[in-house]
Amino acid sequence: MMGRIQQLLPEVSNKIAAGEVVERPASVVKELLENALDARASRVAIALVDAGKTLIRVTDNGEGIHPQDLELALAAHATSKIRSAEDLFGVETNGFRGEALASIASVSRVRLVSKRAQDPHAGEVTSDGGKQGPSRACAAQDGTTIEVRDLFFNLPARRKWLKSDSTEFSHTLDLVQAIALANPEVALRLSHGERVAFDLPAQSQSERLMALYGDLFAEGMLELHEHETYAALDGFLAPPGTHRPNSRGLQLYVNRRPIRDRALMQAVMLAYREFLPPGRFPVAYLFLRVDPATVDVNVHPAKTEVRFLEQNRLFALIKSAITERLIGSGVLPRLSFARPAPAQGYGPQARPDSPFEPVGELTAAPPGQMFSAEALIGARAAEQRWAEARSVLAQVIESAPRAPAAVAAQEKTAPQPAPDSVSPGTEAARPAASPQGLLAQARGLFQVGQTYIVVETADAVVIIDQHAFHERILYYMLEHRLQSAPLERQRLLMPLPLNLSLAARELALSQREALVEFGFELEPFGPDGSLALTAAPRYSLARKHDEMIVELCEELAQGRRPGDFSTMRKSLVEMVACKAAIKAHDPLSPEQIRDLLRLGETVPHTFTCPHGRPTTYRLAFTDLEKVFHRR
Ligand code: ADP
Ligand code: MG
Repeated sequence: MMGRIQQLLPEVSNKIAAGEVVERPASVVKELLENALDARASRVAIALVDAGKTLIRVTDNGEGIHPQDLELALAAHATSKIRSAEDLFGVETNGFRGEALASIASVSRVRLVSKRAQDPHAGEVTSDGGKQGPSRACAAQDGTTIEVRDLFFNLPARRKWLKSDSTEFSHTLDLVQAIALANPEVALRLSHGERVAFDLPAQSQSERLMALYGDLFAEGMLELHEHETYAALDGFLAPPGTHRPNSRGLQLYVNRRPIRDRALMQAVMLAYREFLPPGRFPVAYLFLRVDPATVDVNVHPAKTEVRFLEQNRLFALIKSAITERLIGSGVLPRLSFARPAPAQGYGPQARPDSPFEPVGELTAAPPGQMFSAEALIGARAAEQRWAEARSVLAQVIESAPRAPAAVAAQEKTAPQPAPDSVSPGTEAARPAASPQGLLAQARGLFQVGQTYIVVETADAVVIIDQHAFHERILYYMLEHRLQSAPLERQRLLMPLPLNLSLAARELALSQREALVEFGFELEPFGPDGSLALTAAPRYSLARKHDEMIVELCEELAQGRRPGDFSTMRKSLVEMVACKAAIKAHDPLSPEQIRDLLRLGETVPHTFTCPHGRPTTYRLAFTDLEKVFHRR
C-alpha cells in the first residue's frame, strides 16, 4: 500500500507548515510511533533508556521500507505519503511532511533497520548527527526498527534543557497512552529501562481504556455514539461527579489523531458546565471522525492543531451529544462507605470518593404533565414560602409555550406513554410520570432534619437536598422561560426607592436591560442619582421586589466579573432561582415532597444544583451490607 519514498518538490515542501518537531524524547517517540502506525504495524514495541535521553528504540512489524529507499528515508522532505500539494487535503496518514526522520537524525545518532516481507533480507542505514553512511544488507525480521541514541549530543544547550528522567518519561507516557487509546487494535509495549510500563495486546476500545486508565475509572464511564452524515462522534464520558482539577483527562481525537482544539474543548466544557463544580474539569475521551478532506492538518508542524471546514457543526454536535448523554444517563452519585481499590495502571484516575452507579432513568416527564394545572399551579401548601415558590412556577408555566430543552430531551429518552393512559378527546392528555422516575420507585418518603428528603426504593435510599433540588428545577424553568420572552412586568403605582451602594447602583444601571428580562424596571429617582423600581414582575418572585433587587445588585456588585454579560445573566437566573427555592429547615408535608419530586421529573435533570454541586445521593443497600459485614 505504501509506495516508494520520494523527495518533495520545493513548491510542495514550501506549502508545508514548517518548524521544529524535535523538542524532547516524547516528540521523537511520537514521530516514530506514528510512522509505525502509518506502516500498518499490528505490534509496536517502544524501549527507552534514561527516559529516551540515551536510547529510544521503536520496533514494528509493519510494511517496511524498500531497500533502495533507506537512505532517502532519513533525508529532508522525503516521504512516501504525499506527492503533490493537492495531496495535503485529505491526508489519511499520521505523517506527510517527510521531515521527522531527517530532523531526528540531525540531532542524534540513528540506526534504521527495515525489511519488507517480499525482500530476501533487511537493509540498514546509520547516521551520526545527520552525517549518513551508505545502506547495507543485514539480517532482521519483517518490519522496521529505529534506534535513536544520545539525543541532542551535538546541541549541548538543548540537552541541558531537558528535564529530569521522571518528568521526560511522564511526557512520553502521556503521549503513548493517548495514541494507544486511539489504536486499540495495535498491540503496544512501552518499557523504560528494566521496567515495563505496559504491554497491551490488540483489544477493543473499552478494554484498552480499562487497561490504560484503570478498571475503576472505566467502570462508570458512559459510552457515547452519535453518527451524523458529516461526522461521527464516539467516546467515553465520566459521569457527572467525576472530575479533575485540570484538563488532562480531556482528550479529543480527530480521525485518531490526538489534537488540541480550543473551540471543540469549549464545546465539551459547555456541555458539562452544569454538572461540574466551578473550576473543575470533566474526564472525557472523544473520537471524532470526519472526512479527511474537511480537515486541514497542515497547520502546525507537530500536527496537534487542525482546522475544520465544518467547525460550527462539529461544535454543536459535540455539545449537544454530550449534554444529552449526561442528562439521559440517570446516574446518581453513590454514597458509599467502602473505600474502593485504587485504580490500576497509569494516568488519570477517578476521584476515589465518588464512584457512580445508575439508578432508574430520571427522564423528563411528557409535556402534557409539565403544563398541567394540577401539577404546577394551585398552591396547596399552607406555608407562605411554599406558596410563593409555587407562584414563580405558575408564572413560568403560564407564560412559557414549552420548555424547549425539556421537550427535546424528553423526546429522545422518555418512553412513549402507554395508549390507555391517553383518554380519547383530550389533546393534551396527561400521561403518568415516567414509570422509572424516582417517585414511581418510592416505597417510602419523608423529610429529615427539615432539610433532606429521604426516598426509600427497592434497593437503596436516595437522599435529596431539598433546597438544591428545588433550585435546580427553578433555575431550569427560568432559564428556558427567559429564552422565549422576557418575564411579564407591571408598572408600580408608586416607584419604590432602592437603597443601593454606589457600586451596586452602577451595576444596576449597566445591567438595566438584563433586569428588564426578569421584569424589573429601574429609573433614576431624586436629585442624588439614586434609583427606584418602577416596574416589577407580574408575579411574585418569592420576596418583596425592592428588597430582592437590592440584594441581587449588592451580591452581584461584590462578586462581579467584569464585562461578561452572559455570566451576569446566568448569575441573575441563579440568584432568582436560589431565592425563590424552598430553604433548608422549611418543613415539608408528604404531599409537598411528592409534589417536589414530581416537578423534578419535568426537567431534564436534577443531579446537580446550578452551581454544579450534587443535589442527590444514593445509598445502596448492598453498600450498607458491606458496612455492617452482612456478607
Ligand atoms: P513522513 O512520515 O512525514 O512521511 P518521516 O520522516 O517520518 O516522514 O518518514 C519518512 C519516510 O520513511 C516515510 O514516508 C515512510 O515511507 C518511511 N518510514 C519511516 N518510518 C517507517 C516505518 N516504521 N515503517 C515503514 N516506513 C517508514
Ligand atoms: Mg513520519
